[in-house]
Amino acid sequence: MLPNIGARESIARHHASRCGNGTVVDCFAGVGGNSIQFAFKSNHVIAIDIDSQRIDYAQHNAAIYGVSDKIDFINADFFQIAHCLKGDSVFLSPPWGGPDYAKVQKYDMETMLKPHTGSFLFKIASKMAPKVVMFLPRNVDLNQLAELALSATPPWSLEVERNFLNGKLKAITAYFENTAK
Ligand code: ADP
Repeated sequence: MLPNIGARESIARHHASRCGNGTVVDCFAGVGGNSIQFAFKSNHVIAIDIDSQRIDYAQHNAAIYGVSDKIDFINADFFQIAHCLKGDSVFLSPPWGGPDYAKVQKYDMETMLKPHTGSFLFKIASKMAPKVVMFLPRNVDLNQLAELALSATPPWSLEVERNFLNGKLKAITAYFENTAK
């Protein structure tokens, strides 16, 4: 087992149970913790990461879990290729901008997410699929999430979920859906 894959596995399994069985695009796939769980539940996963070593680890980990045939790995900058990608769900676990996220009372997606703002990320992702799932810091500004849902035409639905591990609030997952489709 390679580093980082264990700690978030139970949350990843939960995310997979919520993303359906169609094509899931995992835009910041890292070493594959989420993509592997998506592969257990869905027909097809597209796993993207800008770091070629992480893609290598992700491929290695997918082979250990026996799901390589379900995942297409792409070593690229997500923002460069997003316009070519379509799926049934888009999963975003974007860089939170380092450990400083925990030092502020409210995490501001418009200034702290890297390398682009939350609204830019949502705009791009919402063109790729009717369902967008964002994994975010536990102190993310919930009003900003609501504003993202309302920024779509027509507005998308939003469900906010608090993710606990061993009784500790770890993160927030936002599920956006185009209910008009
Ligand atoms: P870490 O998991 O080390 O904290 P980050 O949170 O900075 O890393 O980034 C999460 C993952 O997203 C990493 O695997 C990183 O390589 C990847 N990543 C960062 N920027 C991009 C991008 N523009 N396109 C695709 N993947 C990216």
